[in-house]
Amino acid sequence: MGERGAARRSMMAELHKFLFEGLPVRGMVVRLTDAWQEILRRRAGEDGANVYPEAVRDLLGEMTAAATLMQASIKFNGALVLQVFGDGPVKLAVVEVQHDLALRATAKVVGEVAEAASLSEMLNVHNQGRCTITLDPKTRFPGQQPYQSMVPLYGDQREKLERLSDVLGHYMLQSEQLDTTLVLAADDKVAAGLLIQRLPVEGEGNLAGSMVSRANEDQIGHDEDYNRISLLAASLKREELLTLDVDTILRRLFWQEKVQRLQTLDGADGPRFHCSCSAERVRGMIRGLGVEEAESILEERGHIEVGCEFCGRQYRFDAVDAAQIFAGRSELPPGSSVVQ
Ligand SMILES: [Zn+2]
Repeated sequence: MGERGAARRSMMAELHKFLFEGLPVRGMVVRLTDAWQEILRRRAGEDGANVYPEAVRDLLGEMTAAATLMQASIKFNGALVLQVFGDGPVKLAVVEVQHDLALRATAKVVGEVAEAASLSEMLNVHNQGRCTITLDPKTRFPGQQPYQSMVPLYGDQREKLERLSDVLGHYMLQSEQLDTTLVLAADDKVAAGLLIQRLPVEGEGNLAGSMVSRANEDQIGHDEDYNRISLLAASLKREELLTLDVDTILRRLFWQEKVQRLQTLDGADGPRFHCSCSAERVRGMIRGLGVEEAESILEERGHIEVGCEFCGRQYRFDAVDAAQIFAGRSELPPGSSVVQ
C-alpha cells in the first residue's frame, strides 16, 4: 500500500474527543468504517452472503460503536466486553474492546428475525434479556475475577427499552455515576456513535472523598449545561451520524457552544479490528473439556475442529495433537522439540 493509501485507510476508523469550554461536559464521536466492514466480512462466509439479518447487523454495529466509546471514556486497562443475552432469536451479541481500541464482535442468531425487528423483538421478548459489561484487567492477581455489571433491558417501570443507548445510559449512571447520552447508528458500511458526558465533580483530596461523591451524586440529572447539550446531541439523526464528518456534526449540533477539539485517534492508534484468538487458547479450551470428552469427539469425527466466532479462523486438532494437549506438551515454547 502506498503512502496515500495508508493515509486514506487511517481515516477510516476514527475516534474524536472534544470538550465544551468552561463547562463540565465532554464528548466523543466514533466512526468505524473499515474496522466495522472487516467484522462483517469475517462472518460473511465463502459466498459473501450476509450472515446477519439487517436488524441484527445494525444492533451489533451500534454495540461496537458504543463499546468503543465506553472503553475510551473509562480507559480501562484491559478488555471491556459488552454482551447482550437475548430471550428472542438473538441469543448473544458480544463486543470486546481492548485498552488500545483493538476490537472484535460477533452475534449468535437462532431463528427468524423480521426485517425491521425492534430491540425487544430481537432479544427481549419475555423481558428476560439482559446486558452485561465486563471489565477484564490486563494483568490479574491470582484468583482475581473480572468485574461484571448487569443491566436489564427494561426501565424503572419494567417497560421494555427499545434503544441500546438507553440501556447503556443506565449502566453509565449506575456504575460510573456519570450522566451519559449516547446516540448510535449502524448500517452495512458504518458503525458510529456520539457520546456526551458530564464530568464528575472534582475531588479535593482523600479526606473529602465521601463528600465529593455525594456532591457528584447531587449533580446527576441536574446540571443545566449538560442537560442542554444532551438534548442537542439527542436531536442528531441516524442518517446524519452515518454520513456526516465529525466537524459538520459538531457544527450542526453545537453551533452556539464553544467546542474545543482534543485528541483524534486513528490509524494504528485508533479503533481497529483485531482478533486475539490463538491456537494456544483453543488448546486451553480443549484441555478444559477434559480428556474423556475430547476422546469421544475424536472417536466420532477423527479430529477436533474449533472455529473462532469472531474472525472465522478454524483450528483443527487430530489425535496426536490432542494427546500432546493432555500431556501438557503444548506448554513448551514454539519451536522446541518434544523428546519421546
Ligand atoms: Zn479469532
